[in-house]
Amino acid sequence: MKNHSTVALEHCSNYNARELPHIIGKLFQHLGGIGSFVRKGQSVLIKPNLLTDRTPEQTVTTHPEVVRAIIRILKDHGAKPSVADSPANVVKIEQVWEKTGFRAMCEEENVPLINLEKTGAHSFEVDGFSFSIANPILSADVIINVPKVKTHVLTILTAAVKNMFGAVPGFQKMILHKLHPTVSEFGRLIAVIYQHIPPHLNIADAVVAMDGDGPSAGRPVHLGLLAASRDAVALDLTLCRVLNIDPSVVPYFKHLSVDGNSAAYDVNIEIAGTAIDDFDNRNFHAPGTLRARMIPGWLVKFLEPFIWIAPSISDKCIACGRCIKGCPVNALSSATGADKPVLERRKCIGCCCCHEVCPEKAISMTQSPLLNFVRQGRM
Ligand code: SF4
Ligand code: SF4
Repeated sequence: MKNHSTVALEHCSNYNARELPHIIGKLFQHLGGIGSFVRKGQSVLIKPNLLTDRTPEQTVTTHPEVVRAIIRILKDHGAKPSVADSPANVVKIEQVWEKTGFRAMCEEENVPLINLEKTGAHSFEVDGFSFSIANPILSADVIINVPKVKTHVLTILTAAVKNMFGAVPGFQKMILHKLHPTVSEFGRLIAVIYQHIPPHLNIADAVVAMDGDGPSAGRPVHLGLLAASRDAVALDLTLCRVLNIDPSVVPYFKHLSVDGNSAAYDVNIEIAGTAIDDFDNRNFHAPGTLRARMIPGWLVKFLEPFIWIAPSISDKCIACGRCIKGCPVNALSSATGADKPVLERRKCIGCCCCHEVCPEKAISMTQSPLLNFVRQGRM
């Protein structure tokens, strides 16, 4: 039997603080009203995407005005909101809060902004994976997940499901990349973590999304969309339809089976609010790595030595060293006399962590000649 989920979609032309509470209020109404998620006096942890230290206009992180609007609705309802995330660990979290506008917004709204690196965590062993989840995520009465909708060179899409990977504190995220280097295994890990801590509500910020080589080096694209659902999988599948992304190339969906047999993308979705076709995706481009994901699994095993993705560093590099610090397998180093990091390709696992943390968009993920051949549609 197929699962049944409702996804609410609404137009939202910009991040105008006066309009956002009204539009987010409509999303709540489509899903049964705020009272069906939160009771008076409950603690609500809001989990945005605070990947790294970029301004809201750079579209790498959730826009603080979306979170401000959610906070105000929660407060009016008598709930106790807080905000928490664990960014990539190559930048001080305080710097991330400052640049993304979250410190100022949380101070103005008088809500706690929690550093998940310092709150302790619980360890879990699930389906062959070992990982920790930060304590505030485990102890909140309600979790509201507020992802930024972006492309991702590794997972093709990052939205509601993938955003819960940020519940794993700091450095451990890098270790997990190292331990599970293949796209398929990493996709399974993302699915397991999400299923372990499924949020009660997901509200996706796609007012201005990111396309191309996301999650940090892509291009801002105006979609004018806010989307919400209790079901993060249904929400992400709907976003795939809006963005014209084939869900079978997103590596976590196939591990999110509804009934243990059928694929997650068999879920039955009812759209409330605005129809999918009302959103214009003509300007939206998938990542350059997309076609590599379309090679069938059995062929990937066979062709493994000839298919690789590795970083290429351009002259935009300012030698800040973040990529060296962020590489889980020490494949990057600073060599004497070199003006940018040097890659030892033999060690590289193609995890894209360096690409994610580069502040200058100096890193592009390049592909082996065979993958380029596939990318050009000749296979
Ligand atoms: S060089 Fe970049 S892509 Fe390669 S393993 Fe290190 S962080 Fe990952
Ligand atoms: S490539 Fe980017 S992250 Fe690496 S040193 Fe240069 S500017 Fe810094």
